[in-house]
Amino acid sequence: MINEKPVEFIQHVLSTIILDAVQFFPQNKKKVHSEAHGLIFGIDKENSVECDYAFPVGSVMERSDVSVMPDSKVDQAVKSAKELFSTSNCIATYHSHPYDEPFEGWANPSNGDCAAADYLDLPYFLIIAIARNGKKDKPLLLQYGECDAYEFSYDQNGDGHDFPKIQTANHRVSFINGEFQKYTFTIRAYKNTGHSLIDVDLISSEAELMMILNEEDIKIENISEQDTYRLRKMEYNLREENKNRSIRNFEYHLEKIK
Ligand SMILES: [Zn+2]
Repeated sequence: MINEKPVEFIQHVLSTIILDAVQFFPQNKKKVHSEAHGLIFGIDKENSVECDYAFPVGSVMERSDVSVMPDSKVDQAVKSAKELFSTSNCIATYHSHPYDEPFEGWANPSNGDCAAADYLDLPYFLIIAIARNGKKDKPLLLQYGECDAYEFSYDQNGDGHDFPKIQTANHRVSFINGEFQKYTFTIRAYKNTGHSLIDVDLISSEAELMMILNEEDIKIENISEQDTYRLRKMEYNLREENKNRSIRNFEYHLEKIK
């Protein structure tokens, strides 16, 4: 598993998933507290599994604060229609874990997640854990985290909200942590083996762009509309497949927006 390619979110996949988690768990509407669910599309490339599109699926069988039950027929219809418009394939589902407080392992799959992961027979499975009870408003801050990888499999003796069986997978993985306004979140990626979910690296050109703007103390709201295209070019330059050959182009645009 050590040589497994990272799952890479390009374009607006990361922000779309975050916004979907927010719409079902808004910080200013405490009665709304549900899990989000959606489909992720991408292409298996040489250096990464590049995800270029996320679709939040609103039409589900049932959703609550502790579960979301997708309608596999709706998901199949969305998947087949989307594939008419682009070459990327449906490769993952995501769903949110909306909690009152962050805790260790809050983006781990539940026993129910392990049982349900295979319903569309997709190779990857993403979870965003999110809390909305920060004491005060914070600016957007994204970071990579690193931890030991685990393999999670269904425990037939437990119920859906219990822990699955957990084994260490003997490698380290990266994931995405962040905070903004009163939210804190963690997103982790898992490979679906058909009988278990194993942590894989998650990276994002959109997140890396935000990290660099933050380091350079460049505020999004101060970038002019005419310079918006530079952000798109910079995000493109930060993708795994472009990284090595486009550093100069990236730096050129960075200088221009400083
Ligand atoms: Zn879950």
